[in-house]
Amino acid sequence: MGILFPCFRFALSKNANQGIMMSDAESIRKGAKVFMTIVYSVLAFLFGSVFSSFAQLVADRLDRNESIGGRSRCESCGSTLCLVDVIPIFGYLFSLGRCRICGKPIPLRHLLTELIGGLLFAAEYLIFGWSWELAVGLITIVVMLSVSLSDIATKTVHDRVWLFGWVPLILIRVIDGTFLRYGLSAAVLFGLLYLLAFFGERIMKKEALGGGDVKLGLFIGFVLTWDQGLLALFLAALGGFLSGMIGKRKGKELPFVPFLFAGVLIAHAAGREIIAWYLGLLGG
Ligand SMILES: [Zn+2]
Repeated sequence: MGILFPCFRFALSKNANQGIMMSDAESIRKGAKVFMTIVYSVLAFLFGSVFSSFAQLVADRLDRNESIGGRSRCESCGSTLCLVDVIPIFGYLFSLGRCRICGKPIPLRHLLTELIGGLLFAAEYLIFGWSWELAVGLITIVVMLSVSLSDIATKTVHDRVWLFGWVPLILIRVIDGTFLRYGLSAAVLFGLLYLLAFFGERIMKKEALGGGDVKLGLFIGFVLTWDQGLLALFLAALGGFLSGMIGKRKGKELPFVPFLFAGVLIAHAAGREIIAWYLGLLGG
């Protein structure tokens, strides 16, 4: 007994220790997972602010008919910005939102664009994780952000911007074997937008949708399935209508692409759930 007892105690404590070690390992694993998610979200935010800064630059230069290449310049005095100023968000904060040479304020929309782009990239990462849909979402953000900025500033949609994002998008759909599904969706959305523009112009006696907006259907079709696409168009129209009502800016036309951008992002992230919920309402 005297010999057995310590053994028994030893066995007990060993088991107890193992139990503690198991839960320790698990909590360490969980902690590491949370830590990596935070690290990747911060990285996604930084990448997002860099790419949205680029989207802004492309929009500005195409609006002014300039070439894309070359360093950024101050909009007021034309002097080349130094490297620190080009860093998204921090550049703006370091220079206190003013050009170092002429002291004129740098438009606040640069900072806002970079913040929005960063937050959207981080949200996409948290929603989709490492997947092809994440790549699709990030391409969509860069393209639609640039097109939205041009639409707000000059009411033009530069086809070159979405064509640039269209190529990798189509490639992704070929690789993940869904090319036909999204090709069909592109045809449906383009056709629908064309009809909306055609009849809208006849009913409202003015241009309801520009040709540039209609062609965007070809791009959006490779982001969304056709039913998600219909949801995006509905959300965009609803958003445009409501802000038109609230703003009541008479005679001043609202740009449509920013609303389309928001509709596409929502439909891409949660379209399946929203459509299922809506069909459930109809069925029940
Ligand atoms: Zn300046």
